[in-house]
Amino acid sequence: MVKNLPLKQNQRGQLITTPTLQVVDHPEIFALGDLADCKDADGQQVPATAQSAFQQSDYAGWNLWASLTNRPLLPFRYQYLGEMMTLGIGNATLTGMGIQLEGSLAYVARRLAYLNRMPTLKHQLRVGLNWVTKPIVDAFVGKDL
Ligand SMILES: Cc1cc2nc3c(=O)[nH]c(=O)nc-3n(C[C@H](O)[C@H](O)[C@H](O)COP(=O)(O)OP(=O)(O)OC[C@H]3O[C@@H](n4cnc5c(N)ncnc54)[C@H](O)[C@@H]3O)c2cc1C
Repeated sequence: MVKNLPLKQNQRGQLITTPTLQVVDHPEIFALGDLADCKDADGQQVPATAQSAFQQSDYAGWNLWASLTNRPLLPFRYQYLGEMMTLGIGNATLTGMGIQLEGSLAYVARRLAYLNRMPTLKHQLRVGLNWVTKPIVDAFVGKDL
């Protein structure tokens, strides 16, 4: 769908944006996340990751409001927060913000970070409860159920 839009794109079909997340030649259109080819305020290429999309969403919301109310727009500043990865069951690796963790501690820290990212308290409770109860249910009732 994006490829069919009459907007400037790179070779991968991403919409080329300014650091304020406005599509080139179309300042009334904002693009972010994987479908946007964006260089931030410092000129660094913004990677196509969830943490970039998440950070861009604040700027896109703010800039949309600013453009509607004739206020100055903020150029996006990407902040690399690190990487987290599960390694099988109960094991993970985590690097970022000067911390490096491995093993079960990284596994727990990763889950807490994900819980923190849930949009509402309701989501946090549902997901957190599921993580705690699922192994117990699996143990007693069996995974097939
Ligand atoms: C296997 C895999 C692992 C990854 N792991 C990581 C990771 O560990 N860390 C990390 O930071 N990033 C990771 N990423 C990248 C991350 O998922 C993306 O960068 C992030 O999801 C981009 O967010 P987005 O909102 O731009 O796009 P998306 O999350 O892809 O959201 C786009 C949404 O638009 C919907 N959509 C598409 N077409 C239409 C249409 N025509 N009409 C209506 N809706 C439509 C889609 O269904 C989707 O819900 C991973 C990606 C993959 C594929």
